[in-house]
Amino acid sequence: MKILIASSNSGKIEEFKSILKDFEVIPQKHLNIEDVEETGTTFSENALLKANNGFLNSGLPSIGDDSGLIVPLLNGDPGLYSARYAGEHATDQDNRDKLSQELKKLNVQQTPASFICVIAVVNDQDLSKSLICEGRVDGSITVESSGHGGFGYDPMFIPQNFEQTFAEIDFALKQKISHRGQALAVLQENLSKII
Ligand code: IMP
Repeated sequence: MKILIASSNSGKIEEFKSILKDFEVIPQKHLNIEDVEETGTTFSENALLKANNGFLNSGLPSIGDDSGLIVPLLNGDPGLYSARYAGEHATDQDNRDKLSQELKKLNVQQTPASFICVIAVVNDQDLSKSLICEGRVDGSITVESSGHGGFGYDPMFIPQNFEQTFAEIDFALKQKISHRGQALAVLQENLSKII
């Protein structure tokens, strides 16, 4: 059976492939489906927007996801805007620098933070029949980056009960404890309910 991944991120597509072994995984670009604008006001809304766009354009069961970093001290920023915190075409480094500056303005070296990931699967025009899978990892953000692994805010994020950042710990371990890893586990457990 075919399943569409409504993402252009090759790293994410590989992660989905690794758990969807019984499916023929089709990245949306193979069907010339463009990214949809992320106009939702929550991670779930954005994940559903992406999955629904894939479903409407392909007729295939479709998976969309959205994720980001929440820093309560910054009123939840970077939140939904994690990928473009420092501007529309910001690099990961630009976004980390901006986060570091915002914390330094408040004289903070380290503060609680969480990564959130929502994966949505749409297989019906009635969106209330969609599957929503959530994952979350709590920890803290430090103003000084450490480590070279991972991407995004990984060098600044220390998961709870660890001393190293996500960029310093083993990739397989990050996959297991991360927000995305947890959402993928929920997906794996529940996918058969709607497909
Ligand atoms: P999206 O889910 O592709 O919209 O990505 C949102 C943004 O959140 C990414 O560009 C990163 O800045 C950040 N982000 C999401 N997940 C992670 C992660 O596992 N590590 C570091 N940054 C992340």
